[in-house]
Amino acid sequence: MKIIITGATGFIGRYLVLFFSERKFPVVALSRNPQKAKNIFPPHVTCLPWKNMDAASWLDELDGPAAVINLIGENIAGALWTRSYKQKLRDSRLNSVETIVQAFQQAPGRDHILIQASAVGYYGNVHHKVDETSPAGSDFLARLVVEWENASKTLEAVGVRRVLARLGVVLGREGALRKMILPYKLFAGGPLGSGKQGFPWIHIADVARAMLLMIEHDELYGVFNFVAPQTVTQKEFSRALGKVLHRPAWLPAPAPLLKLLLGEMARSALLSGQFVEPKKLLAAGFRFQFPELKKALEDILK
Ligand code: NDP
Repeated sequence: MKIIITGATGFIGRYLVLFFSERKFPVVALSRNPQKAKNIFPPHVTCLPWKNMDAASWLDELDGPAAVINLIGENIAGALWTRSYKQKLRDSRLNSVETIVQAFQQAPGRDHILIQASAVGYYGNVHHKVDETSPAGSDFLARLVVEWENASKTLEAVGVRRVLARLGVVLGREGALRKMILPYKLFAGGPLGSGKQGFPWIHIADVARAMLLMIEHDELYGVFNFVAPQTVTQKEFSRALGKVLHRPAWLPAPAPLLKLLLGEMARSALLSGQFVEPKKLLAAGFRFQFPELKKALEDILK
């Protein structure tokens, strides 16, 4: 099966391209910057420009069994959430899904799967445990995720198997963890606000392994929470990170300061959280390589 990965030079994309190509899948990396992709990836990875993917190019790529893993989205923590940045967050996600839906609609009835990135922000700010059946929240992020997920719904009618990967905070050498580490290195690490909010997390190796499971098992479809089974608060995460880095984790970043500096992003993404269970992954028999936070952090930061 061919694996087509969009947003290929981003944090998760880079990992997945290498993960699938090392396992001998033919991989197509779609990027706004295919030259950058060519410089990063081994020569047997096909690197194509996302922006030039017209109907004929998609037909070529979808000629035969294919899995599209769509990771495109402007970074949630990429800038302050001004009205125009919120528009970018929304447009980048919805436009890319629309392009991919159109591509699949041209080549229906084949052995195709879409693995669409989504986020646990779907659940809003909740203090109890949630699973795939729990309702959506109502803040900006939750409403965005609902729209993002619904944008590919029509694919079910054309027989494309659709998986919505509701990702928790993905832990790897790059991504959010890299930004989080800096204050700890400066002996100024600690929880965000009260630290009582849930901090759903997953090791990037388990993201890739769970996606492989989805690809290999035709009976799996729909929403899956991509989070580790160990649910922790933000304070517990902060303590574990401090321990692994051998640095203190006692200096909280005060909620009013975060709100003042980062506005709605602080309220909705940093000071909010969820206690998310990977109920469907476990029911599908998925065995996490990193079910425990401390071991996951030790692996990444070793
Ligand atoms: P990155 O920001 O690292 O990568 C996203 C990639 O999407 C970019 O590198 C870029 O790829 C592409 N992209 C961004 N904006 C646009 C645009 N306007 N038009 C076309 N392509 C664009 O994100 P991650 O890899 O961390 O995450 C991948 C997806 O998973 C995102 O949608 C994110 O929201 C979601 N997610 C991630 C989580 C995490 O913890 N990392 C948690 C929850 C959800 P290129 O430059 O190669 O074209």
